[in-house]
Amino acid sequence: MKERELRECSVCAICAAKIGKSQSPVFYRAKIDTYFVDIAAVQRQAGLAMMLDGNPIIANAMGPDEDMAQRLDGVTTTLCADCYASGVDISQLAVFAAQRREGGGEKQ
Ligand SMILES: [Zn+2]
Repeated sequence: MKERELRECSVCAICAAKIGKSQSPVFYRAKIDTYFVDIAAVQRQAGLAMMLDGNPIIANAMGPDEDMAQRLDGVTTTLCADCYASGVDISQLAVFAAQRREGGGEKQ
């Protein structure tokens, strides 16, 4: 990681402090992607499997191989060693990361 890259991820998403404040040279990067299951696509695939004697492997080979889930959003964020060690609620981390991104911070 080059200096510019380090500067871009130098603030912890949870405590908003610089990563060096934790007295540890270790920091963490977490990537959180949000997906939704395409129920209609899953139903089409399950229907095809039922028509093929209930065999999902044959249905997979014979079907259109369409996406079963769609990515809605994603964010990569930084955690300092202290916040990482204190236990992180992933849903809260996603909220903090999104707020930091909206404030002009890290983007993916
Ligand atoms: Zn922190």
